[in-house]
Amino acid sequence: MLKNNLIVENYTLKHHNTFGLDAQCGLFAQISSVEGARAVIKRYNPLKLPIHILGSGSNILFSKDFYGALIIKNYIRKIEIIRRDAETVWVLVGGGVLWHDLVLWTLNRGLSGLENLSLIPGTVGAAPIQNIGAYGVELADLLLNVEALHLETLDIHHFTKNDCAFGYRESVFKSKLKGQYLITKVMLQLSRNREVNIEYGDIRNTLANMNIDSNHITPTDVSNAVCNIRKAKLPDPAMIGNAGSFFKNPVILNQKWESLQNDFPEMPHYAVGTLEAKIPAAWLIEQCGWKGKRVGNTGCHARQPLVIVNYGGATGLEIMTHAENVQRSVRDKFGIELMQEVNVW
Ligand SMILES: Cc1cc2nc3c(=O)[nH]c(=O)nc-3n(C[C@H](O)[C@H](O)[C@H](O)COP(=O)(O)OP(=O)(O)OC[C@H]3O[C@@H](n4cnc5c(N)ncnc54)[C@H](O)[C@@H]3O)c2cc1C
Repeated sequence: MLKNNLIVENYTLKHHNTFGLDAQCGLFAQISSVEGARAVIKRYNPLKLPIHILGSGSNILFSKDFYGALIIKNYIRKIEIIRRDAETVWVLVGGGVLWHDLVLWTLNRGLSGLENLSLIPGTVGAAPIQNIGAYGVELADLLLNVEALHLETLDIHHFTKNDCAFGYRESVFKSKLKGQYLITKVMLQLSRNREVNIEYGDIRNTLANMNIDSNHITPTDVSNAVCNIRKAKLPDPAMIGNAGSFFKNPVILNQKWESLQNDFPEMPHYAVGTLEAKIPAAWLIEQCGWKGKRVGNTGCHARQPLVIVNYGGATGLEIMTHAENVQRSVRDKFGIELMQEVNVW
């Protein structure tokens, strides 16, 4: 591994993205502190090249090389308990901590809140970018505030949960403030009571199959159940390159959903408030014949068509073209626009 704060020139990002894409970058730095990040930017970026912040690369598609850019990989890795009372514990977490390591750290200390978000790849600093979520819980449910380094002024700014403007796989860091900050720390508010949320998806059935007594379900049991479900459903990026769900589930007006129902009565949907409906993107993609379909070195996964995979040797452009073909056929068949969840660089 490269030393922290060390900078390398003309470096491959192949081992820094879960698609396994062999993009090159002009300057690559690893930092483990705010001071380290400031020093790297001051010393190596006098020309103000574009700066890209990298976590684990589990939600990125590299569509090109980055010779004229500085890529900074975040290794700020401290976890601290800041305050506790009888019910709540406030935990300040470095942006470079791996998300699932944090989940295990909290479970080992008897804290609940993160168990439904088990096994999501990536770093804590990337979690606010798209307000990560799974199994009925999202980061916004637990986050208190975010500390971030402004990449131009090098000042530290603090964002309350409100400032973050969280939505479904959205935040201010993915829209208005895109590319402007390095998220250095995240403050979470976790619970000391052991209440669990098992209403979503297959969690309840999976716990029953694991022979867990339904009167004594712990957050660790829920975490284990979520890990089992995810391992069965999702392709492991260590085995086959992918970045999880490529598209968001589209949200459409009820009016449109009602008219679509005439032609597609079996179309699944979930109410979003009183005016809108969320349609599973995986279902739309499957209906267009993409499930398990391979095109060259890429394709839609056979178990979960929402996941676009790299069978080996695919380029970012090839994956992007495949994604656009999927979008086009969903648009043509249903008149619904699929929006990317993955960040295209
Ligand atoms: C198999 C698989 C399953 C997944 N399942 C889920 C899921 O259930 N729910 C879900 O929400 N996501 C899921 N994802 C997507 C991904 O894990 C998350 O989006 C995760 O938060 C990305 O973290 P990362 O460190 O890999 O970010 P990266 O991919 O490195 O970066 C993603 C974006 O965030 C920016 N970024 C990263 N770190 C920082 C930082 N410290 N400061 C500022 N900007 C930063 C990058 O510039 C980039 O634009 C899955 C991915 C895979 C491969």
